Amino acid sequence: MATAVICAVSVLVIACPCALGLATPTAITVGIGKAAEHHILIKDATALERICKATDIVLDKTGTITEGKPIVVSAKISADATDEDLGVMLAAEKQSEHPLAGVLVASLEDRGITPSNTDKFAAIVGKGVEAHHNGQLYWVGSELMAHERNVKNSDIKANAHGGTTIYFGCGNRLLAVFVLADMVKETSAPAIASLKRLGLRVYMLTGDNNASAARVAEEVGATGFKAEMLPADKEKYILDMQHRGRIVAMAGDGINDSPALSAADIGIAINSGAAIAREIADVTIKADSLEELVALKAIANSLQKRVHANYRFVLTFNSALIALGALGILQPASSAMLHNLSTIGISLKSMTNLLPENRAPQLKA
Ligand code: ADP
Ligand code: MG
Repeated sequence: MATAVICAVSVLVIACPCALGLATPTAITVGIGKAAEHHILIKDATALERICKATDIVLDKTGTITEGKPIVVSAKISADATDEDLGVMLAAEKQSEHPLAGVLVASLEDRGITPSNTDKFAAIVGKGVEAHHNGQLYWVGSELMAHERNVKNSDIKANAHGGTTIYFGCGNRLLAVFVLADMVKETSAPAIASLKRLGLRVYMLTGDNNASAARVAEEVGATGFKAEMLPADKEKYILDMQHRGRIVAMAGDGINDSPALSAADIGIAINSGAAIAREIADVTIKADSLEELVALKAIANSLQKRVHANYRFVLTFNSALIALGALGILQPASSAMLHNLSTIGISLKSMTNLLPENRAPQLKA
């Protein structure tokens, strides 16, 4: 009878999986800390688990793959356009939060244009902006917007530079055409190559025109791309992928990316982008590099490996102790000591670096 009680005590002492209760949150905390060292802010720890399972990553173009700080490479101003008209464009762009607006403002100011009086300013997400002046509706935006405002087809020409073309008009009168060239971030192509090596398919979505999108997608080696996407199109693209069983991460910076960021399994916002994108996203990364996405994926993968290894160890070790306890080979005091030592050991192991330094160059490759 006494032996049976001793065996039962030995088994009960070991049966509590304390090691897992401590080691898993410790490993997750280390993962979040390691991510912070790489300028990645994780708002939701479960995102680390989802990013590990992700099969595809969708990236926005302007401000995510590119710098979002373009230069004006050509400006064709119609003979009909007065300085007052251009002043309307200046006033409208001054109110826009779009990454392209600043360079258009600077270009107009360099020409000595001053803002005209405007009212009823409106940002048309994914297309451009509009404002009223002297009762007339002026607009600035993409090719899609120019088509919608019934600008003559012969005036809407694909530009030879493969850059972003911005049209400015009043009603169906085209007043100016600007071509902007946005530099691809230095880190975009290597980071996309690393993401592909880590097993992800990388797609680029943009509200920009097809020629500009094709040039950037080719330069960075994206698996595929889609141009002239409005915010709802970006969201639908993600939902369609999920429908086909894919687990999708999405990284973007703009208001136009917000529906897609919220639809994605993992939403990743660029720090310098729109506040709403940061609000919705599970993860925020620094603006100037896509390499953080590679670090994020590598950290998530290591974390999952560690948690699984912990599970396997605890299960095997505790099962062995339970068997020894049940057979009466191990006394309660020894089993308690072994059990607690394994808990301390595995928790300490979970605190070690998730991305050892010798693996860092892999990220940069
Ligand atoms: P992306 O998806 O690449 O981040 P957006 O959806 O933000 O691009 O913008 C799509 C397009 O709409 C731009 O390429 C530009 O042609 C036009 N656009 C948006 N906002 C503005 C603005 N404030 N001024 C001029 N054009 C704009
Ligand atoms: Mg953008």
